[in-house]
Amino acid sequence: TVRRAAQHCGLKEAENEEWTVYWTDSTVTLDRLMEMKRFQVNKTAAQQELLGKEESSEGCFSQLAIVTPSLHSYGDFHAYTSTRKTRTFICKPDNSCQGRGIFITHHPEEIKHGERMICQQYISEPFLIDGFKFDMRIYVLVTSCDPLRIFLYKEGLARFATMRYIDHSTRNLGDICMHLTNYAINKHNENFITDDTVGSKRKLSTLNAWMAEHSYDTSKLWADIDDIVIKTLISAHPVLKHHYQSCFSNYTTGCACFEILGFDILLDRRLKPWLLEV
Ligand code: ADP
Repeated sequence: TVRRAAQHCGLKEAENEEWTVYWTDSTVTLDRLMEMKRFQVNKTAAQQELLGKEESSEGCFSQLAIVTPSLHSYGDFHAYTSTRKTRTFICKPDNSCQGRGIFITHHPEEIKHGERMICQQYISEPFLIDGFKFDMRIYVLVTSCDPLRIFLYKEGLARFATMRYIDHSTRNLGDICMHLTNYAINKHNENFITDDTVGSKRKLSTLNAWMAEHSYDTSKLWADIDDIVIKTLISAHPVLKHHYQSCFSNYTTGCACFEILGFDILLDRRLKPWLLEV
């Protein structure tokens, strides 16, 4: 897709240092950044860790607890879980993706100190369409960090589970095709449907049309999603700005790099969006 889009814009792939845009999914070395000429633009792969602990009145961040080998966050996590009425947690191994190794538990106390995991409160009453849970993948382009300039792409994906959602009970916590909406997991299920209108993977525009048809307030929903995206990026802004200024102190006009981020957002039954992951 990147190749096709680049060609469409009249760019040619270069094999030497004579480049104008450098696209990478991995970390860029400091040397390479320092060597950048003024007309060169780079897609950074800066990863930000976000730790949102508070649920404000308009809270949209899954109350996130990161369990690392550090005693501090482990203690915080247990202090937090013991005060919650609803104690369903979703635990994701650190450094994993595509839903691998994820489990849902009513017993967070069983998570042992030293296990590297990201544990979040499980959003147990998701918004359902035809009885299925889904999440949204939203693409965000950041073209400048000072001033912060954010673009939200209007198209994206809604990814559906392939087993009808039954209120979470201890008995079905292991049914990953009911609780997880990852394509990598659900594509193997015999109920996976390839169709943009009724299928297991739909365009966001199709989802929007469905919402409007069923009289849901999509303007409010998208204003809330904008809010999540902005607040998330503001939380990373000080670090981002600092790194940018140290790397590109000579770069006075325009912006030296850009980043495309994928926001995974889940809607609860009141249509409130929750951020799962960036
Ligand atoms: P991965 O990076 O492995 O895909 P995700 O954080 O995207 O992990 O989680 C996988 C899936 O699990 C999500 O697509 C979503 O369907 C479900 N999920 C993740 N976090 C939560 C949560 N806090 N509450 C409810 N469902 C969740």
